[in-house]
Amino acid sequence: MKLAIMRLAIMKLAIMRLPGLLGLRLCLIFSLTVALSTPAAAINREAFAIAKYDLEIRLEPEQQRLGARGKITLRNDSAQPQKIAALQISSSLNWRSIRVDGKTVQYVSQPYMSDIDHTGALSEAIVTLPAEVKPKDSVELEIGYEGVIPLDTTRLTRIGVPEEIAKHSSWDQISPSFTAVRGAGYVAWYPITTESADFSEGNSLFEVADRWKEREAGSEFQARVTTSRESGDQAPSMICSPGGEKIVQQFSRAQIVSAGCSWTRLGAVTPTFAMANYEPEPKPPLTLYTLPGHEAGAATYSNALEPAMKFVSGWFGQPRAPVAIADFADPNSAPFESGTLLMASMAAEDSKLAGTNLVHELVHSALPSSRPWVYEGLAHFAEAMYRQEQGGRQAALDLLGQHRAAFLDSEKEVSAELEKNVVEKSGGKRSVGQPLAVTFDETCYRSKAAYVWWMLRDMVGDDALKQAIGKYRTEDDKDPKYVEQLIESASKRDLGWFFDDWVYQDRGLPDFHVLSVHPWQTEKGVQIITVTLENLGNAGAEVPFTISFEGGEITKRIEVRAKSTATTRVEMPGTASEILVNDGSVPESDLTNNAFKISGP
Ligand SMILES: [Zn+2]
Repeated sequence: MKLAIMRLAIMKLAIMRLPGLLGLRLCLIFSLTVALSTPAAAINREAFAIAKYDLEIRLEPEQQRLGARGKITLRNDSAQPQKIAALQISSSLNWRSIRVDGKTVQYVSQPYMSDIDHTGALSEAIVTLPAEVKPKDSVELEIGYEGVIPLDTTRLTRIGVPEEIAKHSSWDQISPSFTAVRGAGYVAWYPITTESADFSEGNSLFEVADRWKEREAGSEFQARVTTSRESGDQAPSMICSPGGEKIVQQFSRAQIVSAGCSWTRLGAVTPTFAMANYEPEPKPPLTLYTLPGHEAGAATYSNALEPAMKFVSGWFGQPRAPVAIADFADPNSAPFESGTLLMASMAAEDSKLAGTNLVHELVHSALPSSRPWVYEGLAHFAEAMYRQEQGGRQAALDLLGQHRAAFLDSEKEVSAELEKNVVEKSGGKRSVGQPLAVTFDETCYRSKAAYVWWMLRDMVGDDALKQAIGKYRTEDDKDPKYVEQLIESASKRDLGWFFDDWVYQDRGLPDFHVLSVHPWQTEKGVQIITVTLENLGNAGAEVPFTISFEGGEITKRIEVRAKSTATTRVEMPGTASEILVNDGSVPESDLTNNAFKISGP
């Protein structure tokens, strides 16, 4: 799956295409909004997190309508008491009521420009709470809101992305034929509390969205999505994720279709619901939700299930939670996942992709974790291992290579932006450049994490890593060093330095090259080569290197710490001609200095 890569590609394409004039217009709109809402300017919009959601969502697809009521719990995460809360929903929705302890509270509703929603704006309620909420204290609100959620590409088209391209990534909508709506970062169909996010400001959108995810990682989310219709035709399939469960109730004339999502700690998962006239095919633990005409593509998933199950069970345990794959009519729609739900078009018959997609979701089903680098990192790592099982190590490294491209670009952008003082602009609230252990930056917890797991496997071997993964329990994962301890006790190896450089700190990437080579012969005529490697980067790694000689090659591994050198001797069956450091299994900042030609002794 290329989720992170696709998201970044599309979004960054959008940013790069920002023409000057449009950017200016955007700035003007922003200043205007700020001017209009001066009383709210002093509000700390991110003071409150929403610790708990309990929502009833009613859909009327014919009118593209959504009506919501329920309860949310606001928790004051700031250091000061707060009396004002800013609650935001998509700008195509409107606030209807906000109550505390059964009494209506005062609020002012206003538009708030932000690219965190597909409409490019939010409906914000500035709520005056009945009493100050002290730091760490909470207050429960009863809320009601309603409106429509049509397809909307505004946030992309207004920065110059052509409508046709924008539709492939901005596909959220409620409509009679197809309904699919993703949560925060796409459509605020449930309330959020965020600062304005801007596509034209480099990474600002991702920072605001990632920061929101981080603040909500421990939150409890419950929603029941319902629609009622005349009985008669076959009921549409309703999906709600994470943790969704579908119920169809039949009354004399009406039919009520509903699905509930329930999740105790959101982690990096985005709550999502979908409804369409799918042809559901249950093959526990998997259900395929296929659209008519895509039967052949669905069959490739069906056929890929058994080998994927066998592989995943062997490494990660038995998949437990139900897994769903839901189709798109448009084959170009960007795939998206929410927990164990994957939305991806089944138009193509790509058995390789079906296999890795299934492996990814089955790993989520077998190994829940609220730590994104464990939850997503392991799933992407498993895809690479599965690729190796089917096509050899190089095929796996090619898959990882796509991830390297994704986070290498983002790391370069990060350093460029750091120089431009974006940190100051965002008030020091950046989420990028954070350690893997706590990051909510998608390219890190997916792509960088996949490599970290792969390197650990290369270092400790399959048996030790399997044993460590087998012992992992999300409820025991409280200490940041929990994963390190599991792997160290299974492998009997000190990995503190590796976790320091890759997981607990963001030290960037290593950069290896051959510093010197010395071929010589023992008295008995055995050919030996002494190799010294240097790591110019700030992160250490154990790296493979391959020595070519006439008629073959030898591969060895060596640990080279950050800003250090390491030397080893290798016995050669022939005269060494070339050394190549790193087969691609260690992500490096510079791969152009890795080959070394050996001149004669
Ligand atoms: Zn995933």
